[in-house]
Amino acid sequence: MSISPFDFDWHVHTERSYCSETPLSIEHLRREAERKGLIGFAITDHSAHFYFPEKEAWRYPFIGDYSVFEKARERGNARVEEYLKDLGAFRGDGILSGIEVEAAVTGELILDEALARKFDVVIGAVHWLPGYKDAPQEEFERLFLENTMALLAHDIDILAHPTRVFRRSERPIPKYLYEPIVRRAAERGVSIEINSHSQRDPDIDFLRMCLDMGIKVAMSSDTHNIKELGEFSHQRAFFRELGIAESEMKDHIFTLDDLKNNPRHRRLDKCN
Ligand SMILES: [Zn+2]
Ligand SMILES: [Zn+2]
Repeated sequence: MSISPFDFDWHVHTERSYCSETPLSIEHLRREAERKGLIGFAITDHSAHFYFPEKEAWRYPFIGDYSVFEKARERGNARVEEYLKDLGAFRGDGILSGIEVEAAVTGELILDEALARKFDVVIGAVHWLPGYKDAPQEEFERLFLENTMALLAHDIDILAHPTRVFRRSERPIPKYLYEPIVRRAAERGVSIEINSHSQRDPDIDFLRMCLDMGIKVAMSSDTHNIKELGEFSHQRAFFRELGIAESEMKDHIFTLDDLKNNPRHRRLDKCN
């Protein structure tokens, strides 16, 4: 079967994420993927949304203080198990079970480690850090790098929107941080995504560095609205801007085989 590298979407939310635009059930997404000719996609809802009610989730107290997560762990774990069970019914249909997860400033994932191992795909992301709006830029950059490195120290498969927290908090994006992040991801065999949701991220210099260091990048719509699913015109344009021919794009794009062939990977054996 000839497969286009743009046929798989690695980052898709459902109505279980508070930020999604409903209706966005797995069934809706499955039908939309079929209509668009995708071979599949990964459902990657926010882990914190299983552990915390909406208002608390958006305040992110668990990032600065891991004990907040520990208190919510038991109740949240039961909800994550339920999510896994729901996703299980769609596995083998080209739909992977995944989750988008943050790290606390002390380095722990905001997801029970034993549960993290049950997913086909784990995406690491920085959405918020203490001092989000008011910390001095230098201090924020230090925290950001530490937090990103903490994510990369875990068994994540993809690093999500690597510099978006700067865009969201209306700060300048420090380009000197690209190199240590991309280098570490390459060492750890972690893919980095090109995210086309709202504030597209990363920028072209970041992407160029990924390709220079041999990282295969993940095509991620970060779907919050059904229309976004599998919509990769931004990603294609980015590759073209770097002078990469359409026929060569596949050499730089993260695929299901890349996930399966990663020696660190322990989940996808039962899928497809
Ligand atoms: Zn995200
Ligand atoms: Zn997301």
